[in-house]
Amino acid sequence: MTTRNACLALDAEDSLAPLRAQFALPAGVIYLDGNSLGARPVAALERAQAVIAQEWGDGLIRSWNSAGWRDLPQRLGNRLASLIGAGDDEVVVTDTTSINLFKVLGAALKVQDGRAPQRKVIVSESSNFPTDLYIAQGLMDLLQQGYSLRLVDSPEALAQAIDQDVAVVLLTHVNYKTGYMHDMAALTALIHECGALAIWDLAHSAGAVPVDLRQADADYAIGCTYKYLNGGPGSQAFAWVSPKLCDLVAQPLSGWFGHVRQFDMESGYEPSKGIARYLCGTQPITSLAMVECGLDIFAQTDMLSLRRKSLALTDLFIQLVEERCAAHDLTLITPREHAKRGSHVSFEHPQGYAVIQALIARGVIGDYREPRIMRFGFTPLYTSFTEVFDAVQILGEILDEKTWAQAQFQVRHSVT
Ligand SMILES: *Cc1c(COP(=O)(O)O)cnc(C)c1O
Repeated sequence: MTTRNACLALDAEDSLAPLRAQFALPAGVIYLDGNSLGARPVAALERAQAVIAQEWGDGLIRSWNSAGWRDLPQRLGNRLASLIGAGDDEVVVTDTTSINLFKVLGAALKVQDGRAPQRKVIVSESSNFPTDLYIAQGLMDLLQQGYSLRLVDSPEALAQAIDQDVAVVLLTHVNYKTGYMHDMAALTALIHECGALAIWDLAHSAGAVPVDLRQADADYAIGCTYKYLNGGPGSQAFAWVSPKLCDLVAQPLSGWFGHVRQFDMESGYEPSKGIARYLCGTQPITSLAMVECGLDIFAQTDMLSLRRKSLALTDLFIQLVEERCAAHDLTLITPREHAKRGSHVSFEHPQGYAVIQALIARGVIGDYREPRIMRFGFTPLYTSFTEVFDAVQILGEILDEKTWAQAQFQVRHSVT
């Protein structure tokens, strides 16, 4: 049995523990949902005030040049690059993950159309995050070229599904429900062997687990900054394209920010060289500027240290839940194997939704995903071992006392 004192000792020797002071977390809350919306960096408030009062208020239109607004997507991309194994000038922070997927999938299909037009299948997983599948469906519908989506029901079924008909394989590196993590390098090699291109969604990977896009020889990647990267609600996403592919085709959202001579105001579109062609239109600068505050904190550590602590936190959570809540109907759906685990842990419970609501009422914030899945995110920048201990004790009490059965915990909110 791991005791609370043992957890206090783990916190005392945790070299990452001081970074927590850089987050504005409310007292009395154990926040286990940084995989959905990262906590606010303390610095974000001052930064927002400076952007609004000085850059917008005083600088006005001049700030596009003088405050570096025009190049902010590239500048942030360069700062984010080291977290995902990308090179300089290969990443932009812009738009949403859904929109960036539209761009990279559109480009990937165009590349393949030039090389092997008979390939008409996009492979993904039925358990992929819905927006990824919806965007693929919308694009196929728009193109009217006979594309179809081939969905597999388990990671093991992927190898079978990737054949000579496949143009693109679209995978989320860490599954949003189960926390299952793919072997990016091995799968990318398999995808390339079959002549297909690999798109990786890093929504639950960037800032959560080490990622090395160049080493894995990936083709395209996209992901969120409002989850583990703590960029703020709805903060812009990122897009990366392998330099081998980037200049081959234009992406379909050919807006003026991606034009090679934006302010020449020409009537014809000509894409910029490099990743700048993945820009589309004017960005909400007040939101985009906040992304830097999260990246500033990452710059004080490294992904290997974060991964070490993340695995220790998730191991501890699994062990404590299985000890403390052994009498209850909980099923672990996250892999125990480290190499296959991201930075969140999910348990199924028949009353999962109500249990999460009861936990939130006690100050333990996790979230719920259909069907029956209780999801707990562990963010090594600010989650402590003692919080993991306390959260499991509260979970145990709620299950022992059936607090979840109270009527107020059955009410469904629009965001679960
Ligand atoms: C969170 C998430 C998204 C979100 O997309 P938005 O366009 O930012 O709403 C997309 N894909 C995956 C895999 C996610 O986990």
